[in-house]
Amino acid sequence: MRVCVLSSGSRGNSVYIEGGDNAILIDNGLAFRELKSRLDTAGLDVAKIKATLVTHEHTDHIKGVGVMSRSTGSEVYCQNECYNAFKHKIGDFNYAGNNTNFECGFTAHGFDIKPFRTPHDAVYSVGYKVSFEGKSVVLATDLGTITPGVYNHLVGSDLTILESNHDVEMLKNGSYPMSLKARILGRNGHLSNEDMSCVIRDLALSGTDKFILAHLSEDNNQPDLAFNEADESLHKLGASRGDIDLVVANQYIPTKVFTI
Ligand SMILES: [Zn+2]
Ligand SMILES: [Zn+2]
Repeated sequence: MRVCVLSSGSRGNSVYIEGGDNAILIDNGLAFRELKSRLDTAGLDVAKIKATLVTHEHTDHIKGVGVMSRSTGSEVYCQNECYNAFKHKIGDFNYAGNNTNFECGFTAHGFDIKPFRTPHDAVYSVGYKVSFEGKSVVLATDLGTITPGVYNHLVGSDLTILESNHDVEMLKNGSYPMSLKARILGRNGHLSNEDMSCVIRDLALSGTDKFILAHLSEDNNQPDLAFNEADESLHKLGASRGDIDLVVANQYIPTKVFTI
């Protein structure tokens, strides 16, 4: 498998996952031209992309889904309530995921796909575990807390893409209105650096050695704060820095391409 986070943050999210001759996206909050430009930058091919998995209906995750599907004929998968929440916003698209038992998982284009519920202020929000030929990547962004159900899906993957949205002190001392601060800090909001660092340590102990920190707030976080929080947490385990591949995803440029 090859994996690249093309864009991450409140201005647009998209993750590219390739297995064999096919690839899928998780979310697409990028204009089609911008998506192609980032794929080019990363040395990846838009023609391989056969489907987009949608996590939830917020604009930063769905803005580019319709154009992508119409331009390439690629499919779109999401749970039905999620579909109903955004279908009128992005024009026609090739919807393939009308599945009432969505969390049972499904197979598409050679990938085993296992959605799992995430606590977030959206109609029906999920993360995804995607497996191909015995390897797996799991994505959990846009969630206020790590529930036992989320944790069970995070454990044991080869690469974890995990939200590290804000530094709690920066958020508390920042200029956001109180109601928005409460929303972000709440159970259905976003994970802090601190939340992330607790989990990442347990995941490393369970064997995951590749991590991408994602969905950082531009106003309430800094890449080095998130990185250092994760790095310190991992270091306390006794992991040497060469043992773990840790990267912070960016809003404007793709990450390196991970091979797992
Ligand atoms: Zn988001
Ligand atoms: Zn969201």
